Amino acid sequence: RGIVVAIDGPSGSGKSTVSRQVAGRLGLAYLDTGAMYRAATWWCRRREVELDDAAAVAETVRHMPLSMVTDPAGPRVVCDDVDITAAIREADVTAVVSKVATNLEVRAELARLQREIIASESTDPASRSGGAGVVAEGRDITTVVAPDADVRILLVADENARLARRARERHGSADDTAIAATRDEVLRRDADDSTVSAFLTAADGVVTVDSSTLGIEETVAAVLSVITE
Ligand code: C5P
Repeated sequence: RGIVVAIDGPSGSGKSTVSRQVAGRLGLAYLDTGAMYRAATWWCRRREVELDDAAAVAETVRHMPLSMVTDPAGPRVVCDDVDITAAIREADVTAVVSKVATNLEVRAELARLQREIIASESTDPASRSGGAGVVAEGRDITTVVAPDADVRILLVADENARLARRARERHGSADDTAIAATRDEVLRRDADDSTVSAFLTAADGVVTVDSSTLGIEETVAAVLSVITE
């Protein structure tokens, strides 16, 4: 059986970049579960489903023709034969994704799909990793989706570090204007997301890695050392 690495953390903790690189180094698949909540949001909007209609949203997500490409060198999200990798990062999806992510039936359905992908990557020789395993990242992987993962990590960073990273990502700079433009989005999403998962505190048995003062390389090294401990 292959290895399952679960990494949770808030927006701006460096989770996605670090998880991808760790997966690449170890020859594992990479699963971005946040992208699945984003895809669900994109799909509901495409089907013109009212996001406040919880039952309709859940039903729509259950029939979502989603395909996750778990290659860490080029992860992609395909839905209904459309490559939505870039579209799901747009502000219009980000602004409302928490609405879909707080729908409990949606969470149950996506957690089921996530467990299926994790099981396939860690056992099936025909999977992308050849059964070597997977690095799965999100908000509730260490606690709900894969509490029995071989390695469980909570990647944290203080608020200033997270805001600066997001600002650089979105605006190419971390000056005051860029930070101000990012602050609302990041803090509001923290607050919205905290209603569904306690992703800011480590559960029992979960190792905390603080990336506040670390660069990407150093954070990757810290995570790798937890895995090979
Ligand atoms: O990580 P990312 O910012 O792409 O996640 C998008 C959204 O998906 C989060 O704001 C959160 O609402 C939701 N999410 C979640 N559970 C996960 C991963 C993401 O609720 N495991």
